[in-house]
Amino acid sequence: MDSVVTNGQVVTASGLERLDVGIHGGRIAELRVGLEGPNKIDAQGCYVFPGFVDPHVHLEMNVGGNLTSDDLASGTVAAACGGTTTIIDFTENRRGDDLESWVARRRAQADGRVVVDYALHLQLADSSPSTLVALRRLSEQGYRSAKLYTTYDGVRLSDRDFLELLTAVRDAQVLPMVHTENDHAIAFLTRRLLAQGLVAPRYHADSRPPLVEAEAANRVAILAGLVNAPLYIAHLTCAETLERVQSARQRGQRVFAETCPQYLLLSTDEYDRPGFEGAKYVLSPPLRDQANWPLLWEALAEDALQVVSTDHCPWNYATQKALGRHAFNAIPNGAPGIETRIPLLFSEGVGKGRLSLQRFVEVCATSPARIFGLYPRKGVIAVGADADLVIYDPQRRVTLSQANLHQRVDYCPYEGREVVGYPSVVLLRGEVIVENGQFVGRRGKGQFVRREVSCAY
Ligand code: MN
Ligand code: MN
Repeated sequence: MDSVVTNGQVVTASGLERLDVGIHGGRIAELRVGLEGPNKIDAQGCYVFPGFVDPHVHLEMNVGGNLTSDDLASGTVAAACGGTTTIIDFTENRRGDDLESWVARRRAQADGRVVVDYALHLQLADSSPSTLVALRRLSEQGYRSAKLYTTYDGVRLSDRDFLELLTAVRDAQVLPMVHTENDHAIAFLTRRLLAQGLVAPRYHADSRPPLVEAEAANRVAILAGLVNAPLYIAHLTCAETLERVQSARQRGQRVFAETCPQYLLLSTDEYDRPGFEGAKYVLSPPLRDQANWPLLWEALAEDALQVVSTDHCPWNYATQKALGRHAFNAIPNGAPGIETRIPLLFSEGVGKGRLSLQRFVEVCATSPARIFGLYPRKGVIAVGADADLVIYDPQRRVTLSQANLHQRVDYCPYEGREVVGYPSVVLLRGEVIVENGQFVGRRGKGQFVRREVSCAY
């Protein structure tokens, strides 16, 4: 044994148990009481969780020459400090681009710089023959999921493209993850608002109301049903979309959906902040009415929603969000969250009785690992799995603030909010990378993970 985590309350697939975790060669080698080893890590009074998996982040993403403020190094340090040991980011190709060269480019950007393990969703921006050939080859190389968009210039797909691509991903056993918002409705509503001089950040929410999201989710679910493809709906925010996803599941379709902490804990009230402050909360889909909170929490608890990801997409308020001072539709969309997901979900979910401890681990680790083909290497504490572990102090109180987080961005959407419980020690494949809230790992230690086929197939 290289090291042993002792005295912790370990969350395994079968429940909570007092166990020691023996680590050898970066993997979990043994699970029982009374293990001995040269390096003992005392988890007395703490939970031991599997390293958390965040399947939706945008690090160093280029949007029209503007880069998200966290790069692949700083963003993965923040992930680690928040208990996340595997992230899934995206390729950045657009319509007509060569998919494989963009995969190579993203790999070259990440390898040697990331500090946690990572994988990439393939971005599918067209249904050309060369894209479909590349998709099959890349699936065999362990790229087992793809992102498809119903909106945004350069990546938006027609219904015809959707049918071609949903068929192709089904045949290649790649899981389609879809951003669902009706592009024409957004354009129509945006133009109408701007024509009335309604340019403030708050109008972002009015330009993309719940039914704009629900319509696109419903349409894509029906298209997936037509060609018998599974589906993963990204960042579901509201009752209207949840209802459409539920009906697809009731029709017997394999449809999964994720939500994010911001939709569980923040609302349109943030857009009432003075001046331009609401821009900090301009993300898409937008924040919704608080009435959605209990519905989303219940859906998570009952497995109507399967995953909590972050959609971490940070832009500096002073320099980048400012691009939209004259009009809400020019504000870069997105907000930071890669570091705060686990503390928020534990404190607000487990701490407030909305999620069981086991369900919290499922939605933040096990389910994303299964759905995105990382399981059983990631997302579970079991013999043979990677020794990605989070030793979690359930008593530690932390006031979330831009000043004490590692995310490289000039604000925190949860500034001043206190959470109870925080990661104390984080291990990546057996190596301690976070201790006492500080990153102690090495740049480049994170590895690309070649994934298996999704549990959807
Ligand atoms: Mn999106
Ligand atoms: Mn996103």
